[in-house]
Amino acid sequence: MIFKTAKIVAFRTWGLLLTILGMGLMVLGTAGIVFWGQAGKIVAGIGLVVGLIAMMGSLGIYFWAGMLSTSVKQIECPECHKPTKMLGKTDRCMFCRTMLTTDLRQATITDDELEESQKLETQATPSSPAQPR
Ligand SMILES: [Zn+2]
Repeated sequence: MIFKTAKIVAFRTWGLLLTILGMGLMVLGTAGIVFWGQAGKIVAGIGLVVGLIAMMGSLGIYFWAGMLSTSVKQIECPECHKPTKMLGKTDRCMFCRTMLTTDLRQATITDDELEESQKLETQATPSSPAQPR
C-alpha cells in the first residue's frame, strides 16, 4: 500500500486531486486564448475537454466513495475507540491508521509482519512446487 490511510479517505483524496487537476486544465486552456490568440483556441478546446473528463471522473469517484461509505461496516476502532468505517477484509482506521482486519489469520500479527507476509505470498505463489493436497 502506497498511502497508509483508510481506503475511503484515499478515494476522497483522489477525487479532490482530479477536481483540482480538471479545474486547472480548464483555466489553463482558457488562458491559452489570451496568450496565443487563434492558435490558443485548439489548446483551450483540448484543455476544456480533458478538464471536463477529469472533473466527471472525480465526480464519479466522489459518488462511488459516498455510496461505499453508506454500505460499509461501521465499527469501533480497538486502538482509539472512535467509530471508523471498514472496507473489505483489511482496512485502516480513519483516525489512528491502525490496520484492522476481519480475517482471523491476520488478526494476531503487526502491521509490518502483515506487509512482510503479503510480500512473501506474492513472491512464493508462482514459483512454489506443487503441494500435496
Ligand atoms: Zn483508530
